[in-house]
Amino acid sequence: MSSEALVVCHECDLLLREVPLEAGGVARCSRCGCNLYRNMPEGLERSLVFSLTAAALFVIANAFPIVSMNSQGLTSSTTLLGMVQVLYDDEMFSVALLVFITAFLMPALEIAAFIYLLLPLRLGRTVRGIPLVFRLLHTAQPWGMIEVFMLGILVTISKLAAMASVVPGIALWSFVLLMIAIAAASAGFDSRSFWARVDSLR
Ligand SMILES: [Zn+2]
Repeated sequence: MSSEALVVCHECDLLLREVPLEAGGVARCSRCGCNLYRNMPEGLERSLVFSLTAAALFVIANAFPIVSMNSQGLTSSTTLLGMVQVLYDDEMFSVALLVFITAFLMPALEIAAFIYLLLPLRLGRTVRGIPLVFRLLHTAQPWGMIEVFMLGILVTISKLAAMASVVPGIALWSFVLLMIAIAAASAGFDSRSFWARVDSLR
C-alpha cells in the first residue's frame, strides 16, 4: 500500500484509507464524523476567479470613500486608510492598528496568497515558496475580519444618520462584494486538491 493512499483525520488522528469520491462528494471520518476532504471539480479554478475579483474589488474599496457626510453645509468623506489615519492622529493607536490589520493588511495578504498559489497552477507552472505562502494564507485567514468592520460601519452609519445626512460611497458596496468574493474564494479552495495538483506538476 502506498503512502498516498492514506489520510489522517485532523480532528482525532485516525488513520484512514483514501477512497475516490464522486463529484461533489465529501469524505468523513468514520470515528468522529468530521469532513476529511471533498471532491469539488473546478473548485480551484472558481477560487482563482473569485480571488482575482476580490483583488479588483479591494482596490476599488480602498480607493474611494466609504461614506460621505453632509452636516450644516459641510461635506466630509473618508476612505478606510483615511479612517485609520484619523484614529492614529486622535492617539487611538491600538484601534488604528487593529482596523489596519483586520480590514486592510490581512485581507490583502489573503487575496495575494490565493492568487500567488492558484494563478501559476492554472498556467501549469510551479513557483517558489509554495509551502511558505500556503502557511501565510492559513495565518492570515482568521485575522481578516471585513465582515466585523462592515457591521461596525453599518451601525455607525445608522447612528450618524440621525445627526447628519449620510451617503454610502462606492467603497461601501465594494466592501460588501469583497466580503462575498473572499468567502467564495475560500470555499472553493480545497487544500488536498491543491497539493494533488502541485504534485502532478512536479
Ligand atoms: Zn476523526
